[in-house]
Amino acid sequence: MKKVQLRFYGPLRDFLSEEHLTGNLPGQSKFFIYKFQGRQTTRDIIEAQRVPHTAVDLILIRGKPVDLSYLVQSGEYLSIYPAWRNFELSPEDKLIPVLPAETKFVLDAHLGKLASYLRMLGFDTLYRNDFDDPELASLASETPRILLTRDRGLLMRRQVKLAYFVRSDYPAVQLEEVLERFELLERIPEIRRCPVCNRALEKVSKQEILDRLEPLTKKYYQKFSRCPDCNKIYWQGSHYKQLEELLQKIEKKIKFISK
Ligand SMILES: [Zn+2]
Repeated sequence: MKKVQLRFYGPLRDFLSEEHLTGNLPGQSKFFIYKFQGRQTTRDIIEAQRVPHTAVDLILIRGKPVDLSYLVQSGEYLSIYPAWRNFELSPEDKLIPVLPAETKFVLDAHLGKLASYLRMLGFDTLYRNDFDDPELASLASETPRILLTRDRGLLMRRQVKLAYFVRSDYPAVQLEEVLERFELLERIPEIRRCPVCNRALEKVSKQEILDRLEPLTKKYYQKFSRCPDCNKIYWQGSHYKQLEELLQKIEKKIKFISK
């Protein structure tokens, strides 16, 4: 039987069981002894603890970075780190790939409200309540898109590289988690998208759609956009106002945290 010591840092501890968190080595609450047989890579060992490889950005053994395919030797000691802001790492040591120039998402079936928020902010976001796990994984890996889910099994699929395990049950907090984790406040696109069908909205003159507006909307709003897919009309009314307010709140909080 081979034996290794594991230590998980920061938000990776959210994935651990009570036994992991208290440790199974007397007097050493931060370490966890794991026993295994045969050949196991760092990835095998980490995922055997139900921590998805997609959440791990750095693994150190004797102070040296190793990758997810490293064959772990008995007696080794693994320090396992999440993606951390302000953590200066050279790119070749990082296990999570750099975000592509345009940030795109794919979301699992439980995150419908979060999908609307991301689309309204302008992020290209695929969401359907009938994508199955293999579809979600290949949509995430082909483009690539950031996979957002609360399903650990999905995060552990080999082809998935960019992903985030959403913690909160509340869509507003979920949005905050995602914007913070991927540092997206500065990357919010110019063009909004239709929360229903993800198409980029097009500007439309008030004159053109006058007959479709309610009297109060007609009176108080001047700027309109239209979804080329579903033909729905959007304006800076209550929905966008709520989203703007939420965004301002998130911005304040993230700036406060990163100070
Ligand atoms: Zn639409």
